[in-house]
Amino acid sequence: MKYHLITLGCQMNLSDSERVAAVLEQMGYVRTENENEANLLGMLACSVRQKPIDKVYNKIAQWNRDKGKRNLITFLSGCVLAADKEKLLKQFDIIFPMSELGQFPEMIRNYGIVNAASLKAPKPAMPKNEHIVDLWQIKPKYESTYEAFVPIQNGCDKFCTFCAVPYTRSREVSRPSGEILDEVRHLVNQGYKSITLLGQNVNSYGLDKDGEEITFAQLLRNIGEYGNQSGEEFWVYFTSPHPQDMTREVIEVIAQYPCLARQIHLPMQSGDEKVLIKMNRRHSMDKYRRIVQDIRELIPQATLFTDIIVGFTGEGEAEYQNTEAAFHEFRFNMAYIAMYSPRPGAASYRWPDDVSPDVKKDRFRRLSEVMKIYTRTYNESMVGKTVRLLVNGTDRKTGFSTGLTEGKITVRLDHKAPELMGKMIDVKITSASDFSMSGKLVLQKEIENAQ
Ligand code: SF4
Repeated sequence: MKYHLITLGCQMNLSDSERVAAVLEQMGYVRTENENEANLLGMLACSVRQKPIDKVYNKIAQWNRDKGKRNLITFLSGCVLAADKEKLLKQFDIIFPMSELGQFPEMIRNYGIVNAASLKAPKPAMPKNEHIVDLWQIKPKYESTYEAFVPIQNGCDKFCTFCAVPYTRSREVSRPSGEILDEVRHLVNQGYKSITLLGQNVNSYGLDKDGEEITFAQLLRNIGEYGNQSGEEFWVYFTSPHPQDMTREVIEVIAQYPCLARQIHLPMQSGDEKVLIKMNRRHSMDKYRRIVQDIRELIPQATLFTDIIVGFTGEGEAEYQNTEAAFHEFRFNMAYIAMYSPRPGAASYRWPDDVSPDVKKDRFRRLSEVMKIYTRTYNESMVGKTVRLLVNGTDRKTGFSTGLTEGKITVRLDHKAPELMGKMIDVKITSASDFSMSGKLVLQKEIENAQ
């Protein structure tokens, strides 16, 4: 029995898919990348953006055509809006929320029956989240041997007006801190080098537990203490934090422990106060500025990444200019820039999408150019320096090895080194471009000679 699993969307879906894989493999299913030889075809979907949900509709139409040729069961889970679920119920054999993964084997055995009642219930405004804690107890089948994602929290209480996540993943629930630490310890013992703590709002960790759970800063401190005791070299990242809940204490803790990576991804979304209010982002530019000042003061070597939306409803040229100004001020090392598109289910879907596609494209292009000034400046400042690198891939053109610095900047090596995959090495940076650097391996002897 073989299964084929397609995962769309963000790292949270990737992490969830590792738990789906574990459940299926415990049932005796074997994974295949060739969907034509699978009897069980599934998708972890993402309704939050249009492209991935379009892919779900196209794929299921194709799989249903294949059903005439062989015995197949199809399933769907992930981040799916109630409206999409209703339409897709007729097309998939099984649809279930991730919180019911524990019952998935039973659903496969009686497919189409077990979960149908809960999903056909009169359109719930919010999916239930109470069983998510059971999901976290399922041991995942990690896709990588050196890089892993550890969910620490699920759901979101922020309700940004452009975002449908609170309606697909429901309200915030924090995972017990003991379980998180156990998973981190297990990964480090297995030799994992890069561990990312995941959640929609990682730094509001614990707030849903009314003082009965530790805070995000304390969670990081506990991981940092463990890192010191373990004597192992590894980097712990987290994504995504929300500026509203970012405290100076979190940054102080990162500064204190070497295993907490010097890389912060802090979504800004817009550099304009009025647009931030319209987005219901719940933080001012002043608050964002204070956080960046704390980062620069306490961990000056940290790289800073952000997320931006251009062309949100009501964003005129003056408001866009404020975002450009923020790029000059904060000198991001990377910005994931998106052109606004209204998502069904999000509050802003009801508002006029009043920035034309051409203007959105133009702002996207201009902002990307501004970003490049600072990404290149940073990368050029690294030339001649020796950095630690986690080798994690291969350059498509040259076949040479590539890796990521602690600050998550890509470095291309000058040779093939498959034996270094998943290892941390020293690399001397030899040149820089807009979004990456090139470097050569530093041998131990060379370091000793240089000392
Ligand atoms: S903080 Fe805002 S953007 Fe992030 S998941 Fe919650 S609603 Fe969506």
